[in-house]
Amino acid sequence: MPFDLRSSLLATLAATATASAWAAPDARLLSAARAAEPALIQSLKEMVAIESGTMDAPGLARMADYAEGRLKALGLQVERRKASANNGDVLVGRLSGSGKRKLMLIAHLDTIYWPGTLSSQPIKQDGNRLYGPGIADAKGGVAVILHALAILREAGWQDYAQLTVLFNGDEESGSGGSGEAIATLADEHDVVLSYEPTAAKEFAKTEGVLLAAAGATLLTMDVKGRASHAGAAPQLGRNALVELAW
Ligand SMILES: [Zn+2]
Repeated sequence: MPFDLRSSLLATLAATATASAWAAPDARLLSAARAAEPALIQSLKEMVAIESGTMDAPGLARMADYAEGRLKALGLQVERRKASANNGDVLVGRLSGSGKRKLMLIAHLDTIYWPGTLSSQPIKQDGNRLYGPGIADAKGGVAVILHALAILREAGWQDYAQLTVLFNGDEESGSGGSGEAIATLADEHDVVLSYEPTAAKEFAKTEGVLLAAAGATLLTMDVKGRASHAGAAPQLGRNALVELAW
């Protein structure tokens, strides 16, 4: 799925600046978002050029270096944590403002693409659409966060007590090394916005903030059967596999 630049950036500005699901665009922010388009495209190209397939430690380190530099350039205090499992550091950037609410923006730096994919699927621009490995999932989201923060900073917006940006590097392999850090930090915030891709406008029929999405989890089930004599008392037995299937 290609990345739709304009609607994503505008949705972020509306959601971040008001902490509500949707609001009419602020004229000043709207024109700043339009003016930011070339810079956002440039950021996307730079990020897609850094291959960061999940579990690819060297690629993920380069991607984290890039994102860390960008967050610092925006004035955030950045903490870089080793993931507790998997590969890919967890970046936590923080800004303190003068408002009351605590906001958190999250996105992941890893992609589903193996190193070398760029050679067969290079970055391609076609009108207002960009194509490249990981561009919609979720480097587009990372770019939107970076440029939304730049626009809001330029506008002097500080109506938050705390603004936290978290980037993890193992979402595509289950967030096993970052999930707990994300959940703990999210609990400390009033609003958490995730920059996963949403359906293209043609399918979603609207532009806005998605309030829920499908997810996946891993769990281990321990199912025990009950032994019984197959001839004398089969009705007392329980087959663990059959019980699990039910
Ligand atoms: Zn994703």
